[in-house]
Amino acid sequence: MSKIAVFPGSFDPFTIGHESIVRRAVNIFDKLIIAIGFNTNKTGFWPLEKRTKMITDIFIDDPRIVIDAYSDLTVDYCNRVGAHFMIRGLRTAVDFEYERSIGQSNKQLDPGIESVFILTAPEYTHVNSSIVRDIIGHNGDASMFMSKKVNYRDYL
Ligand code: ADP
Repeated sequence: MSKIAVFPGSFDPFTIGHESIVRRAVNIFDKLIIAIGFNTNKTGFWPLEKRTKMITDIFIDDPRIVIDAYSDLTVDYCNRVGAHFMIRGLRTAVDFEYERSIGQSNKQLDPGIESVFILTAPEYTHVNSSIVRDIIGHNGDASMFMSKKVNYRDYL
């Protein structure tokens, strides 16, 4: 049986911190699905199609990595795609408390899905999508927080 993991998130936008988690996590599993969770009532800062396209282009060379989007419960999505593992990244104690609540709730919702937490590399601890949104929203240069594989401006 192949080991499938889902990395769920809003990825609005997908940063170099997210990329680092994906590149490390993919070696533990046979397939990793980056699943963009979206709310049908909210568009988000970065349009979903462009978010999807940028992430697809970042990982174009790795067939083990698949990009998808979903709007239902994350555990329901995991079951739909046959994933028994959910990846989350941890930066700080604040992340830990938030992720603990989500992870324990998901475990109660579906005991068959295991959350796997990956500690951020120290150089990415401060990288945060909401700060990147703020920088871009004020016409700043966010390239140091974004993947080196693409030019994020091409997807704005
Ligand atoms: P969500 O809205 O689900 O929190 P995010 O896109 O903000 O979605 O984050 C998705 C996951 O990536 C979360 O587990 C978050 O902790 C993790 N993450 C975000 N930024 C980083 C980073 N710089 N380093 C490691 N993990 C990160």
